[in-house]
Amino acid sequence: MNNTYLLLGSNEGERYDWLRQCLRQIKKNIGTITAQSQVYETAAWGLEDQPDFLNMAVCVETIFEPDIVLSAVQNIEAELGRQRTVKWGQRTLDVDILLIDERIIDQSDLRVPHPFLPERRFALIPLAEIAGYVVHPIFNKTIGELLEQCPDDLEVRSKGHLTGL
Ligand code: AMP
Repeated sequence: MNNTYLLLGSNEGERYDWLRQCLRQIKKNIGTITAQSQVYETAAWGLEDQPDFLNMAVCVETIFEPDIVLSAVQNIEAELGRQRTVKWGQRTLDVDILLIDERIIDQSDLRVPHPFLPERRFALIPLAEIAGYVVHPIFNKTIGELLEQCPDDLEVRSKGHLTGL
């Protein structure tokens, strides 16, 4: 068993619905969701002419090894993404693996902890809500400490908990 922390993001169409559908698929295909953050809204990082993103973090208790989780996540993205109205940059649904317990993985197709984590408030804020005391195994700092030290100043607004699950 391991605890895998995922970041879900959507900036196209019925954004709340993509998150709901994604949670259902995670439960069906990956494992038990043991913690779930609120939903946060952020301007698209890097590309400002895009709609705002909704993001949330979840902890999934799973029996699957990281490679299997990555394939499962990519299948979920592909399945839900099929319904997209194609437009570069915008995502009906994006799922990133942020942490897997305190494991370090450095493969060409999978890097854990996710390399962008220390620099992105839109990932650190939801993650800190459910894993503030978990230690980042490369920086040896808690997620809460990384958030305090994060230089990113993009506004991240709380939208409350996802309803209708
Ligand atoms: P994205 O544009 O965020 O959907 O990037 C997906 C690509 O990043 C895939 O080709 C993955 O193999 C790769 N990748 C590397 N590390 C991770 C990770 N921790 N979580 C998700 N995708 C990852």
